[in-house]
Amino acid sequence: MYGQNDITNLRNIIRSSKRAVFFGGAGVSTESGIPDFRSEDGLYRQQYRFPPETMLSAEFFWSHTEEFYGFYRDKMLVTDVSPNAAHYKLAQWEREGHIAAVVTQNIDGLHQKAGSKNVFELHGSIYRNFCTKCGMAYPAQRIQKGKGVPRCACGGIVKPDVVLYGETLDDKTVSGAVEAIRRADNLIIGGTSLNVYPAAALIDYFRGENVVVINRGAPAKDMRGVFFIDGKIGEIFSLI
Ligand code: NAD
Repeated sequence: MYGQNDITNLRNIIRSSKRAVFFGGAGVSTESGIPDFRSEDGLYRQQYRFPPETMLSAEFFWSHTEEFYGFYRDKMLVTDVSPNAAHYKLAQWEREGHIAAVVTQNIDGLHQKAGSKNVFELHGSIYRNFCTKCGMAYPAQRIQKGKGVPRCACGGIVKPDVVLYGETLDDKTVSGAVEAIRRADNLIIGGTSLNVYPAAALIDYFRGENVVVINRGAPAKDMRGVFFIDGKIGEIFSLI
Protein backbone atom coordinates (compact mmCIF):
# COMPACT_ATOMS: atom_id res chain seq x y z
CA MET A 1 0.00 0.00 0.00
CA TYR A 2 1.04 3.60 -0.49
CA GLY A 3 0.76 6.59 1.81
CA GLN A 4 0.42 10.37 1.63
CA ASN A 5 4.23 10.72 1.41
CA ASP A 6 4.30 8.70 -1.80
CA ILE A 7 1.64 10.93 -3.34
CA THR A 8 3.47 14.10 -2.27
CA ASN A 9 6.80 12.82 -3.67
CA LEU A 10 5.20 11.82 -6.95
CA ARG A 11 3.43 15.19 -7.23
CA ASN A 12 6.76 17.01 -6.67
CA ILE A 13 8.54 14.92 -9.30
CA ILE A 14 5.81 15.56 -11.88
CA ARG A 15 5.63 19.29 -11.13
CA SER A 16 9.41 19.62 -11.48
CA SER A 17 9.48 17.66 -14.77
CA LYS A 18 9.99 19.44 -18.06
CA ARG A 19 10.39 16.47 -20.38
CA ALA A 20 9.44 13.32 -18.45
CA VAL A 21 8.53 10.13 -20.26
CA PHE A 22 5.80 7.74 -19.21
CA PHE A 23 6.45 4.09 -20.08
CA GLY A 24 3.43 1.84 -19.61
CA GLY A 25 1.69 -1.40 -20.34
CA ALA A 26 -1.56 -3.31 -20.07
CA GLY A 27 -2.03 -2.41 -16.36
CA VAL A 28 -2.73 1.21 -17.40
CA SER A 29 -5.95 0.07 -19.08
CA THR A 30 -7.29 -2.46 -16.53
CA GLU A 31 -9.18 0.34 -14.75
CA SER A 32 -10.91 0.98 -18.11
CA GLY A 33 -12.06 -2.65 -18.09
CA ILE A 34 -9.48 -4.20 -20.46
CA PRO A 35 -7.83 -7.26 -18.87
CA ASP A 36 -4.01 -7.38 -18.85
CA PHE A 37 -2.01 -10.58 -19.43
CA ARG A 38 -0.40 -11.46 -16.13
CA SER A 39 -2.71 -10.28 -13.29
CA GLU A 40 -4.95 -12.76 -11.44
CA ASP A 41 -7.85 -12.06 -13.79
CA GLY A 42 -5.54 -11.50 -16.78
CA LEU A 43 -5.79 -13.37 -20.07
CA TYR A 44 -2.95 -15.77 -19.16
CA ARG A 45 -5.10 -17.26 -16.37
CA GLN A 46 -8.06 -17.96 -18.66
CA GLN A 47 -8.46 -21.30 -20.42
CA TYR A 48 -8.19 -21.54 -24.19
CA ARG A 49 -7.33 -24.35 -26.60
CA PHE A 50 -3.94 -22.66 -27.11
CA PRO A 51 -2.05 -20.32 -24.75
CA PRO A 52 -2.48 -16.60 -25.59
CA GLU A 53 1.24 -16.26 -26.50
CA THR A 54 0.69 -18.91 -29.18
CA MET A 55 -2.50 -17.32 -30.48
CA LEU A 56 -0.85 -13.91 -30.62
CA SER A 57 2.13 -15.14 -32.63
CA ALA A 58 2.80 -14.42 -36.29
CA GLU A 59 3.12 -18.14 -36.94
CA PHE A 60 -0.37 -18.76 -35.56
CA PHE A 61 -1.79 -15.83 -37.52
CA TRP A 62 -0.67 -17.39 -40.79
CA SER A 63 -1.36 -21.05 -39.91
CA HIS A 64 -4.68 -20.65 -38.01
CA THR A 65 -5.98 -17.32 -39.31
CA GLU A 66 -9.63 -18.00 -38.49
CA GLU A 67 -8.84 -19.07 -34.92
CA PHE A 68 -6.57 -16.04 -34.50
CA TYR A 69 -9.45 -13.77 -35.45
CA GLY A 70 -11.80 -15.58 -33.03
CA PHE A 71 -9.48 -14.76 -30.11
CA TYR A 72 -8.52 -11.32 -31.41
CA ARG A 73 -12.14 -10.17 -31.86
CA ASP A 74 -13.13 -11.64 -28.53
CA LYS A 75 -10.28 -10.35 -26.35
CA MET A 76 -8.06 -7.79 -28.06
CA LEU A 77 -10.32 -5.74 -30.31
CA VAL A 78 -11.90 -3.63 -27.58
CA THR A 79 -13.21 -0.29 -28.85
CA ASP A 80 -16.20 0.49 -26.61
CA VAL A 81 -14.17 1.57 -23.56
CA SER A 82 -13.14 4.96 -22.18
CA PRO A 83 -9.81 6.19 -20.87
CA ASN A 84 -9.39 6.25 -17.09
CA ALA A 85 -7.74 8.78 -14.78
CA ALA A 86 -4.24 7.50 -15.66
CA HIS A 87 -4.73 8.27 -19.37
CA TYR A 88 -6.38 11.64 -18.67
CA LYS A 89 -3.72 12.82 -16.21
CA LEU A 90 -0.90 11.96 -18.63
CA ALA A 91 -2.62 13.98 -21.37
CA GLN A 92 -3.04 16.89 -18.95
CA TRP A 93 0.63 16.76 -17.90
CA GLU A 94 1.67 16.77 -21.55
CA ARG A 95 -0.44 19.92 -22.16
CA GLU A 96 1.10 21.52 -19.05
CA GLY A 97 4.63 20.82 -20.34
CA HIS A 98 5.67 18.17 -17.80
CA ILE A 99 5.48 15.05 -19.97
CA ALA A 100 7.25 14.94 -23.35
CA ALA A 101 6.08 11.51 -24.50
CA VAL A 102 4.11 8.39 -23.64
CA VAL A 103 5.74 5.13 -24.66
CA THR A 104 3.18 2.36 -24.49
CA GLN A 105 3.06 -1.38 -25.07
CA ASN A 106 -0.72 -1.11 -25.36
CA ILE A 107 -2.62 -1.42 -28.60
CA ASP A 108 -5.93 0.00 -27.38
CA GLY A 109 -5.49 3.68 -28.42
CA LEU A 110 -6.71 4.97 -25.04
CA HIS A 111 -3.87 7.49 -24.56
CA GLN A 112 -4.85 9.25 -27.79
CA LYS A 113 -8.55 9.06 -26.85
CA ALA A 114 -7.64 10.88 -23.61
CA GLY A 115 -5.82 13.61 -25.56
CA SER A 116 -2.12 12.60 -25.47
CA LYS A 117 -0.38 13.72 -28.66
CA ASN A 118 3.15 12.32 -28.55
CA VAL A 119 2.51 8.60 -28.15
CA PHE A 120 4.89 5.83 -29.25
CA GLU A 121 2.89 2.63 -29.70
CA LEU A 122 5.62 0.00 -29.51
CA HIS A 123 3.22 -2.85 -30.27
CA GLY A 124 1.02 -1.07 -32.80
CA SER A 125 -2.69 -0.36 -32.66
CA ILE A 126 -6.00 -2.14 -33.17
CA TYR A 127 -7.14 0.99 -35.04
CA ARG A 128 -4.84 0.34 -38.02
CA ASN A 129 -5.38 -2.68 -40.29
CA PHE A 130 -3.80 -3.36 -43.65
CA CYS A 131 -4.25 -5.80 -46.51
CA THR A 132 -1.20 -8.09 -46.55
CA LYS A 133 -1.31 -8.15 -50.37
CA CYS A 134 -2.03 -4.60 -51.60
CA GLY A 135 -1.57 -2.55 -48.41
CA MET A 136 -5.10 -1.08 -48.40
CA ALA A 137 -6.05 0.37 -44.97
CA TYR A 138 -9.17 -0.71 -43.05
CA PRO A 139 -10.73 0.71 -39.86
CA ALA A 140 -11.18 -1.40 -36.72
CA GLN A 141 -14.97 -1.40 -37.20
CA ARG A 142 -14.55 -3.31 -40.46
CA ILE A 143 -12.73 -6.12 -38.59
CA GLN A 144 -15.20 -5.98 -35.71
CA LYS A 145 -18.34 -6.25 -37.82
CA GLY A 146 -17.21 -8.99 -40.17
CA LYS A 147 -17.07 -12.73 -39.44
CA GLY A 148 -14.22 -15.16 -40.09
CA VAL A 149 -11.07 -13.94 -41.83
CA PRO A 150 -11.34 -10.32 -43.07
CA ARG A 151 -10.51 -10.05 -46.75
CA CYS A 152 -9.57 -7.06 -48.85
CA ALA A 153 -11.33 -6.25 -52.14
CA CYS A 154 -8.18 -7.65 -53.83
CA GLY A 155 -8.60 -10.99 -52.05
CA GLY A 156 -5.67 -10.51 -49.63
CA ILE A 157 -5.97 -11.19 -45.91
CA VAL A 158 -6.34 -8.08 -43.75
CA LYS A 159 -3.99 -8.00 -40.74
CA PRO A 160 -4.11 -5.71 -37.72
CA ASP A 161 -1.07 -3.45 -37.36
CA VAL A 162 -0.19 -5.01 -34.01
CA VAL A 163 3.19 -6.58 -33.33
CA LEU A 164 2.68 -10.32 -32.88
CA TYR A 165 5.16 -12.57 -31.08
CA GLY A 166 7.89 -13.38 -33.59
CA GLU A 167 7.62 -10.02 -35.36
CA THR A 168 10.00 -7.09 -35.04
CA LEU A 169 9.05 -3.67 -33.71
CA ASP A 170 8.75 -0.73 -36.08
CA ASP A 171 12.18 0.99 -36.39
CA LYS A 172 10.86 4.56 -36.45
CA THR A 173 8.66 4.00 -33.39
CA VAL A 174 11.54 2.45 -31.44
CA SER A 175 14.02 5.19 -32.33
CA GLY A 176 11.49 7.91 -31.40
CA ALA A 177 10.82 6.21 -28.06
CA VAL A 178 14.54 5.73 -27.34
CA GLU A 179 15.27 9.38 -28.16
CA ALA A 180 12.49 10.59 -25.82
CA ILE A 181 13.71 8.30 -23.00
CA ARG A 182 17.34 9.38 -23.52
CA ARG A 183 16.35 13.05 -23.22
CA ALA A 184 13.89 12.59 -20.34
CA ASP A 185 14.49 14.31 -16.99
CA ASN A 186 12.29 11.82 -15.14
CA LEU A 187 10.96 8.39 -16.09
CA ILE A 188 7.58 7.20 -14.85
CA ILE A 189 6.84 3.55 -15.42
CA GLY A 190 3.42 2.06 -14.72
CA GLY A 191 1.10 -0.88 -15.26
CA THR A 192 3.67 -3.19 -16.78
CA SER A 193 5.30 -6.42 -15.64
CA LEU A 194 8.38 -5.51 -17.76
CA ASN A 195 8.41 -9.09 -19.02
CA VAL A 196 8.05 -8.40 -22.73
CA TYR A 197 11.25 -7.74 -24.71
CA PRO A 198 12.62 -5.82 -26.50
CA ALA A 199 10.09 -3.22 -25.18
CA ALA A 200 11.19 -3.57 -21.54
CA ALA A 201 14.83 -2.94 -22.47
CA LEU A 202 14.10 0.59 -23.73
CA ILE A 203 13.94 1.98 -20.18
CA ASP A 204 17.68 1.26 -19.88
CA TYR A 205 18.33 4.30 -22.11
CA PHE A 206 17.17 6.61 -19.32
CA ARG A 207 19.93 8.88 -17.96
CA GLY A 208 17.84 11.43 -16.03
CA GLU A 209 17.06 11.99 -12.38
CA ASN A 210 14.24 9.85 -10.96
CA VAL A 211 12.71 6.54 -11.95
CA VAL A 212 9.24 6.09 -10.48
CA VAL A 213 7.36 2.80 -10.82
CA ILE A 214 3.63 2.64 -10.12
CA ASN A 215 2.41 -0.91 -10.36
CA ARG A 216 0.30 -3.54 -8.63
CA GLY A 217 3.16 -5.72 -7.40
CA ALA A 218 6.81 -5.33 -8.32
CA PRO A 219 7.70 -5.74 -12.01
CA ALA A 220 10.21 -8.34 -13.20
CA LYS A 221 13.22 -6.02 -13.11
CA ASP A 222 15.74 -4.90 -10.55
CA MET A 223 13.95 -2.22 -8.49
CA ARG A 224 17.03 -0.91 -6.67
CA GLY A 225 17.27 2.87 -6.70
CA VAL A 226 13.70 3.14 -7.95
CA PHE A 227 10.86 4.99 -6.21
CA PHE A 228 8.24 2.22 -6.22
CA ILE A 229 4.56 2.82 -5.44
CA ASP A 230 2.49 -0.35 -5.11
CA GLY A 231 -1.09 0.33 -6.19
CA LYS A 232 -3.57 1.10 -8.93
CA ILE A 233 -2.24 3.71 -11.31
CA GLY A 234 -5.57 5.38 -12.15
CA GLU A 235 -6.42 5.73 -8.47
CA ILE A 236 -2.93 7.08 -7.65
CA PHE A 237 -2.78 9.55 -10.56
CA SER A 238 -6.24 10.89 -9.67
CA LEU A 239 -4.78 11.95 -6.28
CA ILE A 240 -2.11 14.11 -7.93
P1 NAD B 1 1.32 -7.59 -18.21
O1 NAD B 1 -0.05 -8.18 -18.21
O2 NAD B 1 2.47 -8.50 -18.38
O3 NAD B 1 1.54 -6.81 -16.84
C1 NAD B 1 0.64 -5.89 -16.36
C2 NAD B 1 1.16 -5.36 -15.03
O4 NAD B 1 0.33 -4.31 -14.62
C3 NAD B 1 1.15 -6.40 -13.92
O5 NAD B 1 2.35 -6.29 -13.18
C4 NAD B 1 -0.05 -6.00 -13.06
O6 NAD B 1 0.09 -6.33 -11.70
C5 NAD B 1 -0.06 -4.50 -13.26
N1 NAD B 1 -1.37 -3.88 -13.12
C6 NAD B 1 -2.58 -4.35 -13.48
N2 NAD B 1 -3.54 -3.43 -13.25
C7 NAD B 1 -2.91 -2.35 -12.72
C8 NAD B 1 -3.34 -1.07 -12.27
N3 NAD B 1 -4.61 -0.72 -12.30
N4 NAD B 1 -2.41 -0.21 -11.79
C9 NAD B 1 -1.08 -0.55 -11.74
N5 NAD B 1 -0.63 -1.75 -12.14
C10 NAD B 1 -1.52 -2.63 -12.64
O7 NAD B 1 1.32 -6.42 -19.30
P2 NAD B 1 2.54 -5.73 -20.09
O8 NAD B 1 3.71 -5.58 -19.20
O9 NAD B 1 1.99 -4.57 -20.78
O10 NAD B 1 3.02 -6.79 -21.19
C11 NAD B 1 2.16 -7.65 -21.86
C12 NAD B 1 1.77 -7.32 -23.29
O11 NAD B 1 0.38 -7.19 -23.21
C13 NAD B 1 2.16 -6.04 -23.93
O12 NAD B 1 2.94 -6.36 -25.01
C14 NAD B 1 0.85 -5.42 -24.47
O13 NAD B 1 0.98 -5.21 -25.85
C15 NAD B 1 -0.14 -6.51 -24.33
N6 NAD B 1 -1.53 -6.18 -23.90
C16 NAD B 1 -2.08 -4.97 -24.18
C17 NAD B 1 -3.37 -4.69 -23.74
C18 NAD B 1 -3.94 -3.35 -24.08
O14 NAD B 1 -3.64 -2.79 -25.13
N7 NAD B 1 -4.74 -2.77 -23.19
C19 NAD B 1 -4.09 -5.61 -23.00
C20 NAD B 1 -3.49 -6.87 -22.74
C21 NAD B 1 -2.21 -7.13 -23.19
